Amino acid sequence: MQVVTRDEWGARPPKWSEKIYVSKGVFIHYNGGAPLPADVVGGNFDAVCAHLRGVQAYHMNTQGWPDIAYSFCADSVGRIYELRGFGVAGAHTLGWNWDSHAVYLPLGGDQAPTDVQIAAANQVIAEHDKGFGAGFVKGHQQAPNSTSCPGGPTMARILAGDFHATNPMPPPPPPDPDEDEMKPVIVVDPRPGKSAWHVFGNTRYRLASQAEIDVLAYMGTEIVTGDASNPDPIVNWLRACKDLGRPTDR
Ligand SMILES: [Zn+2]
Repeated sequence: MQVVTRDEWGARPPKWSEKIYVSKGVFIHYNGGAPLPADVVGGNFDAVCAHLRGVQAYHMNTQGWPDIAYSFCADSVGRIYELRGFGVAGAHTLGWNWDSHAVYLPLGGDQAPTDVQIAAANQVIAEHDKGFGAGFVKGHQQAPNSTSCPGGPTMARILAGDFHATNPMPPPPPPDPDEDEMKPVIVVDPRPGKSAWHVFGNTRYRLASQAEIDVLAYMGTEIVTGDASNPDPIVNWLRACKDLGRPTDR
């Protein structure tokens, strides 16, 4: 996971910190009921760094906490900022500061998170689960604490299950079971040592030569392939077939 370090965003050192070894999940937070300035919400790097320094100053000077409250920040263009980091007690969620972590989204009011912002938060969540085991993902108000945090639009995305510990890229869609799945196709795996097949119904026939491929293609058979540097289409296609229990080799 690539992060903007504390030095890079200009953090003050914490007054003190306390290690934690157990974490049951990740809480998502926002700034509060007032909308934040457009450059912060828009992910302008200097504006986000200045905003984080301001939040840290508020938490340390006014609240009397040893550091900015949260573990990480995810901005709207997908940057991840190290705040307290992993394995450090927080000051983010009443009742949970010694056994959970927190991701802060620089948003306020009804400002909505972007998809890449959620993907960045999901990287933190995946990293959390690697270190502490699979945990929950909740909005601050689900602690339950009496707060509007993390705001309506973000809460809706949490309840929709969009925040979770997985690769942020969506899985490939399966073939249409009624139609496309049963159409014959030529599958060409371009990677060294791999093969080409003519797939028809539940059977695939290995194609021995480029001439066979050319004939089938000439007859209008669709070709599924990738290229050596990007075999994803073929890999995804084969995976989808496997999920459907086909094809069997012949
Ligand atoms: Zn909160």
